[in-house]
Amino acid sequence: MPDSHTSSYADFYRRSIDDRDAFWTEQAALIDWQTPPQQICDYSQPPFARWFVGGTTNLCHNAVDRHVAARPDAPALIHVSSETGSERTYSFAELHREVQRMAAILLSLGVQKGDRVLVYMPMVAEAAFAMLACARIGAIHCVVFGGFAAGALASRIDDAEPRVVVSADAGMRGGKVVAYKPLLDEAIRLSQHQPESVLLVDRNLAPLPLVQGRDHLYAPLRRQYLDADVPCEWVDATHTSYTLYTSGTTGKPKGVQRDTGGYAVALAASMRHIFEARPGETYFSTSDIGWVVGHSYIVYGPLIAGMATLMYEGLPTRGMDGEPDPAVWWQLVEKYKVTRMFSAPTAVRVLKKYDVAHLRKHDLSSLKALYLAGEPLDEPTAQWISDGLGVPIIDNYWQTESGWPILTIANGVEKKPSKFGSPGVPMYGFDVQLVDEVTGLSMTEPNRKGVVVIEGPLPPGCMQTVWRDDQRFVDTYWRSIPGRLVYNTFDWGLRDQDGYFFILGRSDDVINVAGHRLGTREIEECISGHPQVAEVAVLGVADALKGQVAMAFAVLRDGRLAADPAARLRLEGEIMQRVDGQLGGVARPARVLFVALLPKTRSGKLLRRAMQAVCEGRDAGDLTTLDDPAALDQIRDALAAPKPTPAAG
Ligand code: AMP
Repeated sequence: MPDSHTSSYADFYRRSIDDRDAFWTEQAALIDWQTPPQQICDYSQPPFARWFVGGTTNLCHNAVDRHVAARPDAPALIHVSSETGSERTYSFAELHREVQRMAAILLSLGVQKGDRVLVYMPMVAEAAFAMLACARIGAIHCVVFGGFAAGALASRIDDAEPRVVVSADAGMRGGKVVAYKPLLDEAIRLSQHQPESVLLVDRNLAPLPLVQGRDHLYAPLRRQYLDADVPCEWVDATHTSYTLYTSGTTGKPKGVQRDTGGYAVALAASMRHIFEARPGETYFSTSDIGWVVGHSYIVYGPLIAGMATLMYEGLPTRGMDGEPDPAVWWQLVEKYKVTRMFSAPTAVRVLKKYDVAHLRKHDLSSLKALYLAGEPLDEPTAQWISDGLGVPIIDNYWQTESGWPILTIANGVEKKPSKFGSPGVPMYGFDVQLVDEVTGLSMTEPNRKGVVVIEGPLPPGCMQTVWRDDQRFVDTYWRSIPGRLVYNTFDWGLRDQDGYFFILGRSDDVINVAGHRLGTREIEECISGHPQVAEVAVLGVADALKGQVAMAFAVLRDGRLAADPAARLRLEGEIMQRVDGQLGGVARPARVLFVALLPKTRSGKLLRRAMQAVCEGRDAGDLTTLDDPAALDQIRDALAAPKPTPAAG
């Protein structure tokens, strides 16, 4: 492969688009293949792209086995929990053993190639073992974020139809135990599909009653398989490695389906060209395995690159002794000589509330760059952390669907300056364009706002389809721009004269709370289920800390209740509890306010943007289509009314 470090990024990028097969043939050499691919990209049935057809490989082999020979004793997985005060480093050889033990257990529970294994776990090492073990035996993992409530978990169980669920007694957050088992039992009760077995890691944090015949404890099974020798199952490059659910504009979660070979190559290439990985160094992503960043850059990416990956359970502001400590991450950077760190703007905004001196308490000389993604990175936050750490802060824009960055700076190819407020330029393989939402025409002149779309084929590593719903994949992502078959990101953006993109927010009803993507429809459907609620609108409102928060405006069946502060307080509490129970705390609205009518157009469409503007104290804009101007006044009044307190009631 030519030395990418000497070529210009513009040439590198052009080749990835104009000479696609040659470009990706070179990238494919970054991983091990059992059988090399026969065809680099099959795009005979757009928009479905099949990468590295005919090749066979294995994600777990590339993440673990191939490093065991070269560096068996080098650290592979460093697990740290400031919640339980525990730290443990697994070398590549030890990780190899643990993954085989887990794989043997899954096989003993009847898991076969292609079967789904749902992982509902806190940030424990066993969660990574389970993911890698699935990849090892060709099973498909479906990780569901541990913070999700029973209702959300049940809908994912029904969609994924797992043979086995891997879970634990509990997670911990801020010193509080969150029992998982009752949530899981309730979810299985609610779901139509019944998993055959549940494998449970007992952390001794919460009671763990077992369902006879279904539930199995991990520890005794592990002891039974201490010497397990489970070879990697060589699978086709196009074999599904996992599904991961993400929010869209409908209540039904979408299972983003990922392949094996394309994903392995995409991650290996990104580790080299974007994250400048060096084997033997340590990568620390503060995300969670429940999110795409956790899949790509806690578990697979760093390991594929031969790096140690630091997996952290806990808050950024709580030390290993359980005492408040906003420098805990930097203590870990020092201790484990982290070179590359990945986090989210929200987390930095949390740290920004503390004195910048915390960033200087520890020796951070190992750290070379901090990558931030998941939501817009505002300039003051970027400036603060950049000044504090003295390393490049690299914004990167991507989605669960893409699996790796769409826009950023590929410093591993050519060092280029970042611009505050811009995630950067299109990454190799992504033919990113801006189009007019109405005409579908591409905008070529700079500084014009358009919808960010990607011309097919999507590069390796991106979603293959919606799990078991090809039609939804085509209709949702590829058919929304008139006259064009292009992938819609549903983000607004613009490109400046230097080719840097700026992301200007979502073009659909998805909101972004602390880097987590939520569909407003999902929350609306949940709230509408409350017997007193006649109608509800949920929208994202700018928030200094979380980027956005959800605000709910509800019309009650019995309008008189809205006039009674005690009833309002009670109903707001009940609705919050409902959202907590069905969707989880992440989806809980900041406020639920009650109005007599919602602002709508004459054709009955909710004027979300006008409501959002009012909530953010901005001008509501063009209101010619508004049916009843009193509706917006009601929103203003509801916002201005003092929050009822229990005493007032
Ligand atoms: P998710 O699939 O949960 O990762 O959410 C993806 C969405 O988050 C994107 O479509 C954007 O709306 C937003 N997003 C992710 N990264 C960035 C970024 N660097 N700048 C602005 N928005 C971002």
